[in-house]
Amino acid sequence: MKSQTITHSAEETIAFGRSLAAELSPPLTVLLRGDLGAGKTTLVKGIAEGFGAARAEDVTSPTFTLVHEYRGPHITLYHIDLYRIDTQRDLETLGLDDLLAPNCILLIEWGEKFPLLRRDQNLEITLERVGETERRIERTTVESLERRT
Ligand code: ADP
Ligand code: MG
Repeated sequence: MKSQTITHSAEETIAFGRSLAAELSPPLTVLLRGDLGAGKTTLVKGIAEGFGAARAEDVTSPTFTLVHEYRGPHITLYHIDLYRIDTQRDLETLGLDDLLAPNCILLIEWGEKFPLLRRDQNLEITLERVGETERRIERTTVESLERRT
């Protein structure tokens, strides 16, 4: 299934993430796609708030740290940025497989670089810049991803 929405500010994207959280149940691997500055990390701020795992202002990009963990009362979120990871071998040293416990959700930026990760994903969210503060956000569940191939 595909659905799409347009947000008009970072705050709206955060609000969208908050409501999206209500529809996500673990275990789950979510790929966040889109260019630099598209709003992937901004969306994670909202998702983390939705789960009561972090306040929006406390969610920052894991560009250099690679993995950030946010623990909520019921679920743990792992926000992962693979922009700086280039090889399957480096990816394996991150041990993402071990993170996917029953109560965990992985939110992965730049995961599409790795075919193995694409295979394991449950949901893909693509953000696209359509204006200074407008972003198109498209969700694709894995059933329709499979049909596409
Ligand atoms: P990414 O993680 O995709 O590289 P970020 O979320 O870090 O992107 O950055 C998005 C930037 O765009 C932020 O500076 C944010 O304030 C700005 N922005 C402007 N409008 C929007 C919007 N509608 N949704 C999300 N971010 C927006
Ligand atoms: Mg980011």
